[in-house]
Amino acid sequence: MENQQKSTEKVLLKGLTLSELINYFTSIGEKRFRGEQVFQWMYNRLADDISEMNNIPKPLRNKLLEETSITALEYSEHQTSESGGTIKYAFKTADNYIIESVLIPEVKRTTLCVSTQVGCPLDCQFCATGLMGYQKNLNPGEIFDQYRLAKKLSGEEITNIVFMGMGEPLINYNNTFNALKIFSEQLTQGISQRKITVSTSGIAPKIYELADSELKVKIALSLHSCFEEVRSKIMPINQKYSLRENLNAVKYYAQKTGTRITFEYVMLKGVNDRDVDIKELAKIARDIPSKINLIPFNSLKHMQPSGFAAELEPTPKARINEFADKLRERNISVFLRETQGGDIAAACGQLAVKRQ
Ligand code: SF4
Repeated sequence: MENQQKSTEKVLLKGLTLSELINYFTSIGEKRFRGEQVFQWMYNRLADDISEMNNIPKPLRNKLLEETSITALEYSEHQTSESGGTIKYAFKTADNYIIESVLIPEVKRTTLCVSTQVGCPLDCQFCATGLMGYQKNLNPGEIFDQYRLAKKLSGEEITNIVFMGMGEPLINYNNTFNALKIFSEQLTQGISQRKITVSTSGIAPKIYELADSELKVKIALSLHSCFEEVRSKIMPINQKYSLRENLNAVKYYAQKTGTRITFEYVMLKGVNDRDVDIKELAKIARDIPSKINLIPFNSLKHMQPSGFAAELEPTPKARINEFADKLRERNISVFLRETQGGDIAAACGQLAVKRQ
């Protein structure tokens, strides 16, 4: 029961997968179906408290109240964007860290962007989370509770989940995997795996591991340049897991799972928005079943970055449009990601909370 954690001296049940919950209940002398019941209360009915579980006999409920907890996160505050209804939530972990999640309501869907770490150890030069450094991995309960709280607080029907908030999900692999498993269980009846996207900066061995697992979620690879040297400057992790390795890994992922890869591409003036970038990007997109998301860069000047990060400027809107058109002329599937929630620092690459 790897993820079972003590929360203020109590066993944290939130975050245990179905099989782990069944094991827990059989280990305390209960029938296995109690594990299924508690699973449904936590992940389907989104119970806030064990006392709500009215099909669990009272003596067992009292024992659970005394010895366990199902609350991994608490609400701290939120901000709503004036531009489009995007809401940025701040939630507090039991050990007093603040994390952020972003809810993005659109015409046909509502997407929740969840965090997997407090901060991030990778140092992507365009990203505010990277600038704040790494503090800890989130456990599966803390990942799931972002969904429970955002759904209940907003009253929105969340249709899509993207693991694209603070942190690199694939270096917190086991916790991310168990959270994905919980979202994907039939008893959760939540969100189909095809509506869940794990966004990675490119941890090639873990992309293979996920491809070979029973899950079939979607993968988004932060590409940002088609040239090893440039990509290493933008994303130092490229020196460990090269672009070539990652392209091979996502190609394998697409073949193995029958999904289409999303390439995320943040537009950086003079760095990755040249004509030669269009040519290379088209080559990659033709080789791998994929689509490309072009993302406007949100300047980080207010965080006073140093080194290469300080040099980064956004590509002007007209050039982004031209870049997209030239890719489309080559029959590449391209989407322009509108900046959502820029006014509340909830847009891509902007999530960061003060070091605690
Ligand atoms: S882009 Fe993602 S992986 Fe890179 S520093 Fe930011 S949070 Fe970490």
